[in-house]
Formats: sequence, structure tokens, C-alpha cells
Amino acid sequence: MAEQVDVVVVGLGPGGEDVAGRLAEAGLEVVGIEQRLVGGECPYFACVPTKMMVRAADLLAEGRRIPGMAGSATVQPDWAPVARRIRAEATDDWNDKVAVDRFVGKGGRFVRGSGRLVGPGKVAVGDQEFEARRGVVLATGTEPAVPPIPGLAGTPYWTNREAVQATAAPESLLLIGGGAVGVEFAQVFARFGASVTVIEALDRLVAVEEPEASALIARVFAAEGITVRTGAAAREVRHDGSRFTVMLDGGDVTGDQLLVATGRRVDLAALGVDSVGLDAAAPAVVVDDRLRAGPGLWALGDLTGKGAFTHVAMYHAGIIVRDILGENGPPADYRALPRVTFTDPEIGTVGKTEAAARQAGIRVRTGHTELPSSARGWIHKAGNDGFIKLVEDADRGVLIGATSAGPAGGEVMAALAVAVHGEVPVERLRHMIYAYPTFHRAIEAALADLS
Ligand SMILES: Cc1cc2nc3c(=O)[nH]c(=O)nc-3n(C[C@H](O)[C@H](O)[C@H](O)COP(=O)(O)OP(=O)(O)OC[C@H]3O[C@@H](n4cnc5c(N)ncnc54)[C@H](O)[C@@H]3O)c2cc1C
Repeated sequence: MAEQVDVVVVGLGPGGEDVAGRLAEAGLEVVGIEQRLVGGECPYFACVPTKMMVRAADLLAEGRRIPGMAGSATVQPDWAPVARRIRAEATDDWNDKVAVDRFVGKGGRFVRGSGRLVGPGKVAVGDQEFEARRGVVLATGTEPAVPPIPGLAGTPYWTNREAVQATAAPESLLLIGGGAVGVEFAQVFARFGASVTVIEALDRLVAVEEPEASALIARVFAAEGITVRTGAAAREVRHDGSRFTVMLDGGDVTGDQLLVATGRRVDLAALGVDSVGLDAAAPAVVVDDRLRAGPGLWALGDLTGKGAFTHVAMYHAGIIVRDILGENGPPADYRALPRVTFTDPEIGTVGKTEAAARQAGIRVRTGHTELPSSARGWIHKAGNDGFIKLVEDADRGVLIGATSAGPAGGEVMAALAVAVHGEVPVERLRHMIYAYPTFHRAIEAALADLS
């Protein structure tokens, strides 16, 4: 006999935890189901520990920039404080007691286990079954996708989940996958002394971003001694008990550790979506602009394929909470979706790339400026690589996309995100006052270059 509650939330990552907590605080009877750790991928295996790693690696890089600019410094990398900080401050040693208590403290009911839809409004977890009066929210995120490369299965390769638990930086690291996750790990471990090779099947790193961003990262990686093999599909993997070999066209590569960062996958069949008439073989749950996937059914975050970012999951959470509580508010709008690759230089992007805009049939004008030629970039000197690129809808006279690469590139991007989101006319942006000498002042030069 199913137990009646108001709402069942399956998966308590950043999106699910937020929905469940807010609805519980609003006085609804909410059951939150989590099979692993409340908080999800982001705090335990992704954003938070990796950005602690990035922060540590950037400190090393800044230390190495002292000679010639501020005296002398000897930089001796030590992974131990990074590993300690990830355990003590980010993950509580991969223990979610604080997060569970937080949810229960808001009035939610927590169930540990794997939830599965068993019909409209119905979710089973172990031998319990719940029937939701108001609705079910699917928030189960994604798992690392591991490609079927012959020989890979059964070897002790890492995904992001093992990499953030590293207690030492490997002496040499092979990395399959040159997307955002791959390049962040590559630079971190290289700065901690690992000899790193990035293997990417496509012809450039961070291939979803502007080609200028790919070229910039490739140039910086070459200068830092990171080997990049683009256009190179891994054909086979071998592990001889201590070292990995990845077979590639154009020469095999070997290393002490292998990290696979080739994207994410969902398993909708395991989630029982066919019991409510959804396609279990689909790559994502199809949702409308209120995140509705069917009557009394919502889905959010990575699971929806709308952008695998914590800020997307939390944005979705807000819309779902309003929808369930019957409150007004705008529907989902992805025009100004921001994303940041936390390399050094940081790549901050919002909205459409030039290629995506042209593909959408938009008449495009672009503007570009190099950061080293801006006043602040010139003053900054060591570590000043970067650029700003703007993508304008020439017919409407508004920005529809932008990339800001450089020191604090993700922060500079925020100004451009406001322009894209608010559809601020380019003519108005041209006559704004940009503080001197900031990195964001380079936006003015990029605007002047629009053609
Ligand atoms: C290495 C790495 C770095 C990243 N860095 C960033 C970053 O800097 N900024 C950013 O915005 N994003 C980043 N991301 C992406 C970000 O982690 C995800 O977009 C975000 O965690 C998605 O949130 P979610 O709520 O959709 O799902 P998840 O965080 O994946 O949470 C889903 C939860 O559901 C649980 N679950 C799954 N199935 C079931 C089930 N059947 N029953 C019960 N529970 C279930 C899972 O155990 C999990 O806890 C990064 C990702 C990776 C891999």
C-alpha cells in the first residue's frame, strides 16, 4: 500500500536538495530520496573539490610568476594540503550527515536508497512505496560516461570521482577527454608536477567553446609542458599492473595514471520512466519551460540535458518550486546561459558562440580584443593571456553571446551576461563608463571592433 505524501523528490543533488528543502520549508509533506550522498556530484566529486584543486594549482602558478616581477621564490608543490582540505572542508570525508540533518531540519523526510517511478505519481524505494498528491520531481543527475574502448574496463582508471580523492599527484597522467572537466584536471595535476598528456578525439580542446578559446588553452598548455593530442581517438587501453598505455593513431602514450573525462550519461530505464510513458532510451528527460515532464512530473538539472551545471540545476529548482506552489514567475530562458572553464586563463562564456549563432541563421557581427593589449593586461604582464570576443545579432543590435578569457575571465563574463540577458542595445554598451584599468574595460575595445 503506497504512502500518501505531497511531493517526492528522487535524487538530492544541488537541484533536488534545493527543491525538496524549499518545499518542506513551505509546509509540504516532502520525501527526499538519495541513493548516495545528499548534495550530489557538485560538493563531493565535482565543482567544489575541483575548484579547491584549481585554487591550489593557481597559487603555484602565481608563485612561479614572481621571478622577473617581484623577486625570487621557490615553489615546492605538495598535494597533501589539497587532499586534506578536500576531505576536511569540502566533503567531510564523503559523509553527508550535515546535509541530511539540514534537510530534515527543514521538515523534510529523508529516505536513503534508489528511487524508481512505478506509475504516475508513484515512486518505489526498497520495499517502500510513496504516492505523491502534488507531484514527483526527478533530479537524479548524471554518472561519468566511460566509452567502450577495448581494454579499458577492468583497469584502475579514474573518473572525476577517484581523481578528487587522490592522496598524491601522479608522476604522469594520461587524460582521455579535452572538454572543460578534462582541461581543468590536466592543468591542476601538471602544476603539481605530473607529466600530463591530454587525448582528445575532436580536432580541438574545449570544442564547444569558441575556436579562439581552444587555441588559447592549447598555447598555454604547450607553454606549461602539457602534451595535447587532438584528433586522436583512443583505440585500446592496456594496464600492465603499474602503468597504462593508450593506443592512438600516430603513436601510443604511457603514464602512471589514466583519467577518463569523456562526458556524462543518464540511465532513464533504471529510473522507471517507461512506467509514466516516457522514452527510457532517450539521452535526457524532455521537459517544457516549466520543467514539466508530464502531469504531476517535473525533472531538473543534468537529467534534462539543458546544461550540465550546478547553476542550471538550481535555476530549474526555483522554477519547479514556484510551479508546485502555484506562484507566478518567468519560464525557463537559456539565452544567457553562462559557463566557466576554470583553467588559467579562465574561460567565461555566455549565450551563443559565433558558430552556433550563424547556424541558427542569425546575421552576426563579431568583435575581438586581446587582453595583453589592454591597459590592465599589459600591467598584469605574467599570466595575462586572454581575449574578449563578442557575438552580436546585427539585425537587433544586441549581444547574443560572448567569451571572456583571461585572469578572472569568469567574473568579467558576468558583465556580458547582464548585457545578453537584458538585451542591452550595443549602442548603449558603447557609451557606458568602464573603470580604468580593469580587465572588463577590454569589453569597450571589443565593442569598437564589432564588424
Ligand atoms: C569534475 C566536474 C566538475 C564540475 N564543475 C562544475 C562547476 O565548476 N560549476 C558548475 O556549475 N558545474 C560543474 N559541474 C557539473 C555539476 O556537478 C552538475 O551539473 C551538478 O552536480 C548537477 O546537479 P543535479 O542536481 O542535476 O545532479 P547531481 O549533482 O548529479 O545529483 C543527482 C543525485 O541523484 C542521486 N541519484 C541518482 N539516481 C538516483 C535514484 N534512482 N534514487 C535516488 N537518488 C539517485 C545521485 O546519487 C546524486 O546524488 C562539474 C562536473 C564535474 C564532473
